[in-house]
Amino acid sequence: MKKSDLDLKTYNVLPGPKMGLVTPEYLEEIAAAARKYNVPLLKITGAQRLAIAGHSPEVAAKIWQELGQPTGPKKPVGIHYIQACPGLKWCKYGRQDSLALGRMIEESFVDIPLPAKTKVGISGCQFNCCESYIRDLGVFGTTKGWTVVFGGNGGGSPRIGDVVGEKLTDQEVLKLMGRCLDYFSEKARRLERTGRLMRRSSLADLEKYLKS
Ligand code: SF4
Repeated sequence: MKKSDLDLKTYNVLPGPKMGLVTPEYLEEIAAAARKYNVPLLKITGAQRLAIAGHSPEVAAKIWQELGQPTGPKKPVGIHYIQACPGLKWCKYGRQDSLALGRMIEESFVDIPLPAKTKVGISGCQFNCCESYIRDLGVFGTTKGWTVVFGGNGGGSPRIGDVVGEKLTDQEVLKLMGRCLDYFSEKARRLERTGRLMRRSSLADLEKYLKS
């Protein structure tokens, strides 16, 4: 394989946008930077983020700098991303405000250290466009409130998460999520994702912990 082929395989995810929310100004800045540095591929990722590919690490650093972003994705192990759908305000099927809940979750948990990468998916209704059943922490809305799911995983070792709470308010979701993350921190091995933890643990053990 030629070095030029390898170079094309560089791939960086831009810090932000949060929950896939963009503005015309943000998109114009990205487009200007992509033209300036001849970025051959821009891609919206499955996590609602923007990937730039086919460039050197130096170019990535320059682009981040021009966009006023911190250089390099040096993220500690913890909440990896929060995915949220348009929800109640913007989708005709929406039952709960997923974007508002996403902001609350981010404020409460995004910087706390955890044993492993942790993905959060928030869907405004039972159609579950943000695949909440296969996220480490998933939430979806119903007419009666939020349902919370823990221990889901996609990828090569898929697991449907366990429902740990139903008919919850925003504040009850935050409280329950905090307890689930406490359980995760106490019980998981280093770099063990929630799905693996739940495979060797049990829903009964988690429920007992949540009630304690
Ligand atoms: S999960 Fe429901 S509210 Fe969210 S985008 Fe999908 S259909 Fe709309």
